[in-house]
Amino acid sequence: MYDYIIIGAGVVGSAIARELSLYQAKTLVLEKENDVANVQSLANSAIVHSGHNPEPNSLKARLSVWGNKLYEEMEKELDIPLLRTGAYVVAHNAEEERQLEELTELARINQVPEFKILSFEEALKDEPNLSKTVTKVLSLPTTKVTYPWEVAFAAMENALINGVEFIKNALVTGIKKEFDYFVVTVNNHIEYQCRYLINSAGVASDDIAGLIEKNVPFHITGRKGEYFVIDKRAKGFVNHILYPLPTELGKGVLITPQYHGEILLGPNSELVEDKYLPTTSFAGLAYVKEHAAMLADNIPFNQIIRSFAGIRSTADYDDFYIKESLEVKGLFHLGGIDSPGLTACFAIAKYLVNEVMNVDNIYQLNPDFNPYRKKRVMFHKLSDVEKQVLIKEEPMYGNIICKCEKITEKEILEAMRGPLGSNTIKGIKKRTRAGAGLCQGGYCEEKIVKMISKEFNLSPMDIAYDKENTKLFTQETKVLKK
Ligand SMILES: Cc1cc2nc3c(=O)[nH]c(=O)nc-3n(C[C@H](O)[C@H](O)[C@H](O)COP(=O)(O)OP(=O)(O)OC[C@H]3O[C@@H](n4cnc5c(N)ncnc54)[C@H](O)[C@@H]3O)c2cc1C
Repeated sequence: MYDYIIIGAGVVGSAIARELSLYQAKTLVLEKENDVANVQSLANSAIVHSGHNPEPNSLKARLSVWGNKLYEEMEKELDIPLLRTGAYVVAHNAEEERQLEELTELARINQVPEFKILSFEEALKDEPNLSKTVTKVLSLPTTKVTYPWEVAFAAMENALINGVEFIKNALVTGIKKEFDYFVVTVNNHIEYQCRYLINSAGVASDDIAGLIEKNVPFHITGRKGEYFVIDKRAKGFVNHILYPLPTELGKGVLITPQYHGEILLGPNSELVEDKYLPTTSFAGLAYVKEHAAMLADNIPFNQIIRSFAGIRSTADYDDFYIKESLEVKGLFHLGGIDSPGLTACFAIAKYLVNEVMNVDNIYQLNPDFNPYRKKRVMFHKLSDVEKQVLIKEEPMYGNIICKCEKITEKEILEAMRGPLGSNTIKGIKKRTRAGAGLCQGGYCEEKIVKMISKEFNLSPMDIAYDKENTKLFTQETKVLKK
């Protein structure tokens, strides 16, 4: 019997797992995918927003301002990447300047630190490619960029060393309450029991609620966002995140410098019927190009290396829905965790555990809790001297497998090993960035297939790009047999 079962290992489920590991409670995380952060937490803008635009007094406002601050702590404890860009929200004319004033008032009420209005000339000093049609900007210095997959890995790895259990490929298919405990069915046949159940299933959170509740208190609609990725050769094209003014569709198409040097253009915002199918479209990407061009001049569209889409879990409830079930005691919902869910994830976890579930009153603190996660080696970021020392200790650091991102054999091996290790091409890419650069895996994928094959004793025919149904090969082609 577990004390807690968490359904879903996105950034929110992973942050909750870590928060619960502070207590002497037995916690299990069930994730339907073969990895953490494979759905909403996989495909987003990666921005840690300042909290400048949610409705005052909403949970979104409170948890994003708090969450933004918590990232500073998590950088130290969990080695989470942070790029301190700051952000500019731009206005183009008198009417938009009036809206910018209103937004500034929201930022003030939400207690966003250090914001100020800048003239076009002041903003241009730091952003030479800012569109010449811009007249004023709202500067938000606390806005920053993280690396969302790493946020989930960091939180989950830390939860695991503090005693949490994690099962992947575990699709929750049934929930029953018997006496004072839950029976959670996975993949239609395996059962787990727990005292308290946490529904952190993102776009599926209403479907999970529907497995046990007659009247689900919120309904999720998918809202797709599409992106272009510009190669890191364009690093420095913009230094701040550039936002347009927000509309009822959200924060709009942005230009966002990424932690590892690329630049994201997007997202659009389109309601979709199938909330599980994040496909890109010609029309959506054309919209992204057109709207990005309103923020900056000379966008290097010729350096686009890929496009992708993510689907926001938008609820009919007008805020994050973080509450105990009205029908089933001990069941807790996290519904409608769309943007700023990445920003707020650590604050959401603390809010849920301390203010909604009051875990303090139920379980003692875990005296052995270790808040720190072992730092990952990013070989290419080291000085030449540090590199030489490492290569002497471990020659596999001297073998570069991914030339675009300069990822070494040792880093890839590390990504395959450990409790959160992976044996898929995408899993290795998420952990190391091998395959994320200019050639998009054209050079290194074949080498990584051989490494996975050796490490896990798998035939290349059995190696998947990502999910089970994405095997890389259907039959042998021209392979030299030794
Ligand atoms: C286009 C886009 C842009 C965004 N930009 C930003 C941004 O810049 N900043 C920001 O703060 N936020 C942003 N967000 C929002 C942010 O990405 C989400 O709020 C956050 O990732 C939500 O995390 P989560 O853990 O709740 O959901 P998810 O990451 O979706 O995790 C839910 C998990 O539940 C699992 N699951 C579902 N059903 C089951 C089941 N039956 N059994 C077991 N497991 C199950 C899923 O597989 C999934 O892994 C953006 C979102 C999108 C889509």
